[in-house]
Amino acid sequence: MSLANHDVEVKVCDVAGCTKDAERSFNIKQVSRSSLQLKDSGLRQVHLCKDHYREYKKETKGARSLDQVYE
Ligand SMILES: [Zn+2]
Repeated sequence: MSLANHDVEVKVCDVAGCTKDAERSFNIKQVSRSSLQLKDSGLRQVHLCKDHYREYKKETKGARSLDQVYE
C-alpha cells in the first residue's frame, strides 16, 4: 500500500487544452484580464505552466501601452 502519494500534488496548468505542469499560480482576477482560456471559469486560483505564464506576462505587460497603440 502506498499512502505517501497523497502528499505529492502536482498542479497542472489551468489553461484549456494544456496538460503541462504548473509553475506559478495567480488570482483569477489577474488572469481574466488576459486572453487565456481556462478549463474552469469558477476558479479562484489559476495555475499556469511556464509557457502560459510567459504569454500571460507578455499580455499584461503590454496592456498599459495598448491605449497608445490604438490612435
Ligand atoms: Zn499551460
